[in-house]
Amino acid sequence: MKKIAVMTSGGDAPGMNAAIRAVVRYAVKNDIQVLGIQRGYAGLLDEDFIEMDFASVGGIMEKGGTVLRSSRCPEFVRKETRQEAAKILARHGVEGLIVIGGEGSLHGAMFLEEEQKVPVVGIPGTIDNDIAMTDMSIGVDTCLNTVVDAIQKLKDTASSHERAFIVEVMGRSSGYIATVAGLVTGAEAIVIPEIPVNYEALGNKILKERERGKINCIVVVAEGAASAYTVARHLEHRIGYETRITILGHIQRGGSPTAFDRLLASRMGVAAVEFLKRGNSYIMTALQGGKIVPVKLDEVLKQKKSLNMELVELTALLS
Ligand code: ADP
Repeated sequence: MKKIAVMTSGGDAPGMNAAIRAVVRYAVKNDIQVLGIQRGYAGLLDEDFIEMDFASVGGIMEKGGTVLRSSRCPEFVRKETRQEAAKILARHGVEGLIVIGGEGSLHGAMFLEEEQKVPVVGIPGTIDNDIAMTDMSIGVDTCLNTVVDAIQKLKDTASSHERAFIVEVMGRSSGYIATVAGLVTGAEAIVIPEIPVNYEALGNKILKERERGKINCIVVVAEGAASAYTVARHLEHRIGYETRITILGHIQRGGSPTAFDRLLASRMGVAAVEFLKRGNSYIMTALQGGKIVPVKLDEVLKQKKSLNMELVELTALLS
């Protein structure tokens, strides 16, 4: 293998730069040239490429976002577009492609190999932790730490004013961020897509906590379950607390990646190149039981990652 390409696609996640750095440096050490594709699949179609070498990825590990930038490219769902992409890669002598991104991006990669025979390896990068068969995706840990830090600050003001804070966090289809953030900040309750919300029970729980003498109240809501405004509307008249709403929004995507994300990204980046080198493609790098292993892309993408219900029980048990 003489030349590979790397891209980041879809929603950006902290740690993507550490993965790019690992891919480039490990490839260069193995005498493999690396083409950086800028702006995901859209940049691939526009041939928005840069040659990358050992020095070009210096000083990027600690940066949030992605230096290769990212995009959404709706036309990539069409077979003819992917055929065009494969031709471009062949013309540039690219023998393998590493795609760092979420479920959508990994679908694009899967079809590129399935139909167009481009060897691909995916690296899961998304803050939602909604990709199956891997314990963690790159960006999840940093996002969690950002959310925990924000909730901790809200708790200070919630206690001072005896207010209830409804905090809306990321998680379109997964309640992972809301559950773990709720657990480790001692929130009163979580509202997540996996469990239908019972506002009456939720209101009663908060009232009971108040009777016990608790002077603040935090409810963490995953965006995919309900909006913070809806939850507040349902709770306000039940609990008699003054309610404040905080939607954390895009600050959850940014920031310097945590040590965990840098390490995960570095390990997955190296593994992705190693797999490609050995002719092992149509796979995603996955973290399973502390090890980085290859898992088949089609198997990953036909599954929905389920939330570990023990975490939900623990959150309820300890709050
Ligand atoms: P993420 O990768 O973060 O899940 P998106 O779902 O927006 O983000 O997907 C990123 C890009 O991946 C899309 O803009 C599109 O180019 C490509 N993509 C998404 N779904 C598919 C699909 N089913 N087939 C082919 N390409 C896809």
